[in-house]
Amino acid sequence: MDTYENLLAGNKRWVKEKLSQDPQFFERLAKGQSPKVLWIGCSDSRVPANEITGTNPGEVFVHRNIANMVVHSDMNLLSVLDYAVNILQVEHVIVCGHYGCGGVKAAMTSEQYGLVDNWLRHTKDVYRLHNQELDAIADEDKRLNRFVELNVIEQVFDLSKTSIIQNAWHNRNEPIVHGWVYDLRTGIIQDLDVSLHSKSKLPPIYNVSGKVVAGEDM
Ligand SMILES: [Zn+2]
Repeated sequence: MDTYENLLAGNKRWVKEKLSQDPQFFERLAKGQSPKVLWIGCSDSRVPANEITGTNPGEVFVHRNIANMVVHSDMNLLSVLDYAVNILQVEHVIVCGHYGCGGVKAAMTSEQYGLVDNWLRHTKDVYRLHNQELDAIADEDKRLNRFVELNVIEQVFDLSKTSIIQNAWHNRNEPIVHGWVYDLRTGIIQDLDVSLHSKSKLPPIYNVSGKVVAGEDM
């Protein structure tokens, strides 16, 4: 059986298993979703949000892209974030990076990989912000691991700079924005302890006032 057919056969096995544990599983899920968590992770096939957190369909709203970036002009990310925060009213937003990330590693080099180089320029900006600390780490693997962590931390800040998150904090003191790193070698997730639920740690230039200004000056 080839890979393609394996996927369909795997789906049949999965449906059977779920129904044997809970005959109403799909019926219930079909009625709607109310996940409490938005996950922003890497597209890497080894970091599936539900599986590594032991959660079921319906529990985590997911956005993934290469190197788990929060890019302010990315309509996909912004639409997912706005829907999750304002319609689903999630309580937590988690940025989860992973050690050994190929995207972050590529951002450390001057190699060309094609179109993705443009995407990873945002990741290079993170390196530039922290180049003193990163350049001082001689071991390349250790430098990459630290870059992965710093990239997650910057994405947590980038989420917090959005009007979507700041308006939600103003209106309902949620969601809490977290930064995690997954270790491919152990399967363990580490909480980087950089959670934010107010703009107090943001430079004032990023503060968003509580209302939209009517005017034509922009
Ligand atoms: Zn990755």
